[in-house]
Amino acid sequence: MLSRSGHRVLMTLQRKCSNLSQLMKCPAVTEPLNFLAGRRIALDTSRDQIPLQYPATGEVLCSMQLASKMDVDRAVTAAKDAQVGWARMSGFHRGQVLKRAADIIRSRLEEIARLETLDTGKPIWEARLDMQSCADTIEYYGGLAASIAGEFLPLSDGCYAYTIREALGVVGGIGAWNYPLQMASWKSAPALACGNSFVFKPSELTPLTAVVLGEVYKEAGLPDGCYNVVQGGGEVGQLLCSHDLVDKISFTGSVPVGSKIMEACAKGVKHVTLELGGKSPLIIFDDCHLDNAVSGAMMANFLTQGQVCSNGTRVFIQKKIITEFLEKLVKRTKRMKIGDPFNDNTTVGATISRQQADKVLRYVNLAKQEGAEVLCGGQEVTPEERFKGGQFMSPCVLSRCHDDMAVVKDEVFGSLMSVLQFDCEDEVVARANNTEFGLAGGVFTKDLGRAHRVTSHLKAGSLYVNNYNMYPVGVPFGGYKKSGIGRENGPDAIQYYTQVKSVYVEMNDVKAPF
Ligand code: NAD
Repeated sequence: MLSRSGHRVLMTLQRKCSNLSQLMKCPAVTEPLNFLAGRRIALDTSRDQIPLQYPATGEVLCSMQLASKMDVDRAVTAAKDAQVGWARMSGFHRGQVLKRAADIIRSRLEEIARLETLDTGKPIWEARLDMQSCADTIEYYGGLAASIAGEFLPLSDGCYAYTIREALGVVGGIGAWNYPLQMASWKSAPALACGNSFVFKPSELTPLTAVVLGEVYKEAGLPDGCYNVVQGGGEVGQLLCSHDLVDKISFTGSVPVGSKIMEACAKGVKHVTLELGGKSPLIIFDDCHLDNAVSGAMMANFLTQGQVCSNGTRVFIQKKIITEFLEKLVKRTKRMKIGDPFNDNTTVGATISRQQADKVLRYVNLAKQEGAEVLCGGQEVTPEERFKGGQFMSPCVLSRCHDDMAVVKDEVFGSLMSVLQFDCEDEVVARANNTEFGLAGGVFTKDLGRAHRVTSHLKAGSLYVNNYNMYPVGVPFGGYKKSGIGRENGPDAIQYYTQVKSVYVEMNDVKAPF
């Protein structure tokens, strides 16, 4: 665990931290990254290790030791041992632990946000907002914990039934790299509120903050073993999915991996929820508030370097306003500031990995070959000499796109907006729904009737009217079609971390037919 003096050192480092190398020496980075039964565990150094790189410079932050089969087994066993006692505590007391954890995150918000930026390359102000949202989520489920309950079901005279919502047992979480601590929080908070224990495997690209969350929970009074972190890639994820003592997998990531997870869970007949990819439509009608719609299109595409699952990357614009809309959009997009993720004025940080930047470049080229016009961006840039080892992409607006282009059909996961033109409502709704995904969608219009009509016809789990990419903690989030199964956030998440037990009670003599 990071000691009090460790915190002081870290905070001093952060105050001075124009020098990145100082932040890289902080204990949260240099200490072991697997968190089992309440503490960081230094594993056998002969094991496989992979370098963890800062996306903005390519500097190696540390060597991350991958969890072995035995380590996963230790984590799951610790979770199994801790779960029964945790579930027997009252919901109120579990909630108190979670609320304390939320307070601790708020008190350490700057420190944890900086680690998140180090891990992801996202702008520091975005990381701060993410941390706020993590604290809010944990507090929200802390508040719900005391009221997780079943129902009283009156039957015929003299007998009744009741239901109990019970924990599933050990929940395994597997996360993607774009919102590392948010995924750890969105999954662990409802899981723990319901009385489950939790073993999390963050993305191998972003391992740091999930471990700090373990320390936060411990300081808040969570019993050892209730929250654990195992590090590694797909193999470690598969070990979790196939472990006999794991009762449920909650996964966030791509569709192909989600499908493998579901297959692995099917073998063990485990519960599974999947938060997967998207290729969401954003529909802008000619009666919209134009400047708001331009802001919405940017919100829908350029947060976190465009690496957001719910992004509205297919931007449909009604014919009459397309020229004026694009003029405003391109002007504002060109003004975005690409640079040091730790600078408060930066709006575009680093793309997570070489592989991801190459994917974005590949799709820009493909789009050009298929007839799209690049109105701005779509290039790799080096904002300053010290960032030449990282990867930075300029936000890209592609016009003259059509529905059959690869860039319009596939999830790219980068700052790459495809602009499509449309004439009328029925046409655009049909085209918007013509996708295998169904995560999100949006509409900009001043016509309230049209807004509700369009949202009711779009086949997606999260819809936005006159805004985009908002995730209030009380509102369920998740996908239709191949974008997922189940919901995170809001009261709905509770049903995915509990199972229902029905109890029939007879108060009369039993009338047996034999
Ligand atoms: P990914 O599917 O490649 O990996 C996600 C996680 O799965 C990682 O932790 C990875 O190590 C693990 N993994 C990989 N192969 C595995 C296997 N065979 N078995 C078990 N685990 C395995 O996704 P990514 O590149 O990390 O993230 C980007 C994707 O995540 C995008 O498709 C994006 O849309 C999606 N995403 C969805 C949401 C959502 O809420 N719907 C949120 C964020 C990201």
